[in-house]
Amino acid sequence: METIRATKKQASNVRTWLDALSNLFYPNLCLACSKNLLPGGNFLCVSCTYKLPKTDFHLHQENPLTERFWGRVQLQAGTACYHFSKSGRTQQLLHRLKYEGKKEVGIEIGKLHGSVLREAPLFRDVDLIVPVPLHPKKQRLRGYNQSALYARGLSERLGVPWQEALKRTAYTDSQTRKSRMERFANVEKVFELPSPDAVKGKHVLLVDDVITTGATLEACAHRLLAAPGTRVSVATIAIAN
Ligand SMILES: [Zn+2]
Repeated sequence: METIRATKKQASNVRTWLDALSNLFYPNLCLACSKNLLPGGNFLCVSCTYKLPKTDFHLHQENPLTERFWGRVQLQAGTACYHFSKSGRTQQLLHRLKYEGKKEVGIEIGKLHGSVLREAPLFRDVDLIVPVPLHPKKQRLRGYNQSALYARGLSERLGVPWQEALKRTAYTDSQTRKSRMERFANVEKVFELPSPDAVKGKHVLLVDDVITTGATLEACAHRLLAAPGTRVSVATIAIAN
């Protein structure tokens, strides 16, 4: 009996030691603030879980995100998971997702946000989730589309399928030096909907990582709305001011 207990204790010591060792080489860090996470925790520390600036847009038909589409495109509803804030936690998360290959950030935020939207009447009858496509060249370089990862997480929690129904055609040059009008004209030509039947008659949740001017999402929404009977809502990980 003593021997069994001793062996078990040794085994558990070894496990703790191995955990500590693997933590040394592959530290389990919070993806927003880089502090050590407790073993078995998720991708955010407790502090970030509470301090990340969530929006409550999903509760309101009209909100700062839907306002960006007024007079441009008819949305059913629109929401963003987080605001950008001075603390930089949201920026940090997006940086990890887009430039540090942390694909799990997209999926995990999608799951978090999906759990919230599942309870929101405005998003209850969504039929299909469609991510904003990346240019193929950019996707080859990055190896993945961050918006598609977010779509995957949302899909898992909302219990509705996701599909890359939109395609990106031409390359857009840097948007930064163009006027607002030029930017809108530029993106309008860029998206295609190869098979309108995929979205016909559906309530489509169009998703992207960040909304700034809304030009990209607007162009995508126009393409989707060209299919008969389609309705479009928008969800993003973050909203920039
Ligand atoms: Zn943290």
